[in-house]
Amino acid sequence: MTEPRFKRILLKLSGEVLMGQGQFGIDPATCERVAREVKAATEAGFEICMVVGGGNIFRGLAGAAQGFERASADYMGMLATVMNALAMQNTLERLGVDTRVQSAIPMASVSEPYIRRKAMRHMEKGRVVIFAAGTGLPFFTTDTTAALRAAEMNCDALFKGTSVDGVYNADPKKVPTATRYDAVSFDQVLVENLKVMDATAVALCRDNHIPIVVFNIRDEGNLAAVLQGDGISTVVR
Ligand code: UDP
Repeated sequence: MTEPRFKRILLKLSGEVLMGQGQFGIDPATCERVAREVKAATEAGFEICMVVGGGNIFRGLAGAAQGFERASADYMGMLATVMNALAMQNTLERLGVDTRVQSAIPMASVSEPYIRRKAMRHMEKGRVVIFAAGTGLPFFTTDTTAALRAAEMNCDALFKGTSVDGVYNADPKKVPTATRYDAVSFDQVLVENLKVMDATAVALCRDNHIPIVVFNIRDEGNLAAVLQGDGISTVVR
């Protein structure tokens, strides 16, 4: 078996992943399936931290379009990510995985505050650290949070779990002839505006030499497979 390329990774899950087949909110069965993937990866010796989005509950841009002030709407979006983080924590702990939630917006009775060195220590002890409340700043996204935390935590790669199996040259749901890249450069993603993560996140990963691995988190066993270098994915580097 080939030696895995990465040891410590940051797993980014959008809120959309956690809503499963639903149109809104958190689907417990989907949380459990994702949690099993994470558990298998930790048991295989990988160190995992996570950033969860909030789009299944509230997005700042959508709130602003409905008349809320953008910054307030973004804080609402960040609070949505805390709910998702607690859902993932609870599900992981039920499966016997040690976790800690750290929130960028201090919330003493709910989670630890984000403290980088403490998060590092948790990871060294084999705990899965879930970063909640994004960067704590409006006008950012959880994709950018994922890139930032991956850099701060010295991760070898950022794993972006989505509902497609990589990056395509066109939207595979609309264009039947679309083809998937095995690998693509950061610059190509930015210049061609390929749908990977937002531009701020991609630029942050590029500047810090953190590859982005885009893979389908809905396929059972895929996280562990991609970590071992076997599964289907696109690597942005
Ligand atoms: N958000 C923010 N600052 C951050 C991260 C997130 O203001 O650093 C807000 C923003 O309103 C965003 C919402 O939280 O729309 C939910 O995050 P995101 O849209 O990135 O979630 P995802 O698309 O991954 O589910």
